[in-house]
Amino acid sequence: MYIKKQRLLTPGPTPLYPPALHAMMASDLHHRTEDFRNVYKSALADLKEVMATTHDVLLFAASGTGAMDAAVSNLFSAGDKVIVCSAGKFGERWVEIAKAYGLNAIVLQKEYGDVVSPDEVAETLRRESGVKGVFLQASETSTGAAFDVEGMGRVVSPSGALLIVDAITGLGTMPLEIDEWGLDVVIGGSQKAFMIPPGLAFCSVSPKAWKFYETSTLPHFYFDLKKEKKNGDKGESSWTPATSLILALGAALKYIQQVGMPRLVENAQLLARATRAAVRELGLELFARRPGASVTAVRAPAGMDSGVIVKEFRNRFGAIIANGQGTMKGQIFRMAHLGYFDIADMFAIIAGLEVILHANGYPVEFGRGVAAVQRLYAEAAVAEPAGARA
Ligand SMILES: *Cc1c(COP(=O)(O)O)cnc(C)c1O
Repeated sequence: MYIKKQRLLTPGPTPLYPPALHAMMASDLHHRTEDFRNVYKSALADLKEVMATTHDVLLFAASGTGAMDAAVSNLFSAGDKVIVCSAGKFGERWVEIAKAYGLNAIVLQKEYGDVVSPDEVAETLRRESGVKGVFLQASETSTGAAFDVEGMGRVVSPSGALLIVDAITGLGTMPLEIDEWGLDVVIGGSQKAFMIPPGLAFCSVSPKAWKFYETSTLPHFYFDLKKEKKNGDKGESSWTPATSLILALGAALKYIQQVGMPRLVENAQLLARATRAAVRELGLELFARRPGASVTAVRAPAGMDSGVIVKEFRNRFGAIIANGQGTMKGQIFRMAHLGYFDIADMFAIIAGLEVILHANGYPVEFGRGVAAVQRLYAEAAVAEPAGARA
């Protein structure tokens, strides 16, 4: 085949929303002007609305990890006892950040593919006194697992600890009731369900978290929550903002508002369900015990390196899917469905997967996986109000 469109099917970066890309071309403006202050203010307000929280929402020019770093360096002090839930590469990132800042981290470690349960956190909180924070992922992108964030809120919010949620692939793929569930800091990143390129991190900050800010003694400079809040209220960022990305974010947020955040979540969940059904139909095994809707991690068939599937997607179809990270490399492959993915993408991905498996000696009856996606679509489309099928 001579024409191959490039397709980004990874859980970050994700497919880009075209009007957001077009909006980036208007970045020949100065950030200390009324025009840009209006853009910035409106992006912050829309972000807050999409996240459906009354907490403060702050933006940073950084990849998602920047906001993770900020949450630790602004809210804690060296030696603070914290609980870190770790069941994948991003849980390990929390452990590393906590260590870098000298926190006393109790790590609740689970096997890759598993999650830490709210009961385990509750038990640790009962056993240990003076815990200042609990860190977790809403969606552990490296394994495809989803944590019970609501359950964690129930356990952590009555305690004295802050609940810090890396929701970088959780936002837009699962319900997250920030205020009601007692989520003190909820972190997002631009290149996931927000459909724009990497480079923006953001987080919500609860009133309880602001109290921690007042007593935190860890050093920080570039990422200063209070400074960012003060400037944000005036439509300014503390440092030169990533203007082009903020223009893009503005356009993407308008689209997300038009679709509705609950429907964006439902979209990801439907595509995830379709992917799981197809994978099961093909006789393959899911990696996560509690699979989420941002990405589906699948074990490669016995005797096949998952890298072969990843490489074949690129060579045959110009499509980039994700391999496993760390020790999961070669064992699993990951197909994303967060943000700007639609059902036609899933038809194509599963059809491509069937072709690749077949070409590499795994017995496949063509169309079996695709039919599972079609069946799910047919049921969902019937359930959908006619007006929603624009
Ligand atoms: C993508 C991602 C991050 C952030 O990674 P960056 O490379 O810093 O953007 C953090 N946590 C999770 C769960 C992610 O999916």
